[in-house]
Amino acid sequence: MTANLLDFDLEGLAAFCEQLGEKRFRAVQLFRWIHQKGASDFAQMTDLARSLRDKLPAVCTITDLPVLSRQDSADGTIKWLFDVGDGNAVETVFIPEDDRGTLCISSQAGCAVGCRFCSTGHQGFSRNLTTGEILAQLWHAEHFLRRHLQRGERVITNVVMMGMGEPLQNYHALVPALRAMLDDHGYGLSRRRVTVSTSGVVPMMDRLAQDCPVALAVSLHAPNDALRNDLVPLNRKYPIAELLDACLRYLPAAPRDFITFEYCMLDGVNDQPEHARELLAVLRQHGERGVPCKVNLIPFNPFPDSGLTCSPRAVVQRFGQMLNEGGVVTTVRKTRGDDIDAACGQLAGDVLDRTNAAQRLAQRRQASERPIRFVQKERQA
Ligand code: SF4
Repeated sequence: MTANLLDFDLEGLAAFCEQLGEKRFRAVQLFRWIHQKGASDFAQMTDLARSLRDKLPAVCTITDLPVLSRQDSADGTIKWLFDVGDGNAVETVFIPEDDRGTLCISSQAGCAVGCRFCSTGHQGFSRNLTTGEILAQLWHAEHFLRRHLQRGERVITNVVMMGMGEPLQNYHALVPALRAMLDDHGYGLSRRRVTVSTSGVVPMMDRLAQDCPVALAVSLHAPNDALRNDLVPLNRKYPIAELLDACLRYLPAAPRDFITFEYCMLDGVNDQPEHARELLAVLRQHGERGVPCKVNLIPFNPFPDSGLTCSPRAVVQRFGQMLNEGGVVTTVRKTRGDDIDAACGQLAGDVLDRTNAAQRLAQRRQASERPIRFVQKERQA
């Protein structure tokens, strides 16, 4: 069987080269050709020894993901739908801004966590992506954009693991991909510019701190366990207090001195003044001195069958103001790529649901519709 060289970080590639009887510096050359120059044809790699160039095609490939579609938004956002086989497809989004270019990458085909407000979660879960499939999203996007924008230098300056999937539930494939992103012979991104977003897989947060500490974003979405159990089911396993403890343990290794908490604003569900007060208390009083953090409020992007709607703009502003006045720096995320369904929480490729997660989510949604309506009525009264 031939190896896909996108499956390796530099150490992995060095081990592979060693098996071929090649020295480590050959792995560095190969790694640069692949990731810095976007080469997929060994014949292009002119500084490799001729004998190695001739040997490689028989034992390995550099395999891109087939593109099923590419959509370009009016605001410059680009969304790719990649085929990962067996009827599964995953999405990747490039978001250009004045001072940066961010790529949002998927880590799984679907997701088993099943957050109520997330389009991916409603599709269920099929399988983990390989390291090669995670890295191919960056490899493809970076070298497409360089050709498209006719720029020789790096276009993608930031990577966020916030596409489809819970990255920390695909830890073994994730870490080599992160290492290739950070490697100076690869994409050379700083740890501050690579963010892993998690719904709170506590043991893996601890491992990430040791193995590859990059910036961390935690999907919080609720200020108490009762509500978070409903919105983010993983909370039943790792409740808020345990999650915040894990954040405090992560911080000494983190490239930033704060954790980002994501909070999706759901009308009448988690967006009321009492929720803001409770959130402030939780974040500021946890542990000895609270959790150093920033909060990012995300306007919910409605999708069919979610049973949820986005908080009105004024409610989002009021919630953010209360947190800021309470001493927690809070921003509201700008929505991008609305016209191509590329905004946060809208990514939903095609997934063969092997775990009946979608069915379980539908049952949970029905079971919890009553309390949500009750809260809405209370607010209107
Ligand atoms: S928000 Fe993240 S963890 Fe939750 S279902 Fe969606 S992809 Fe999975």
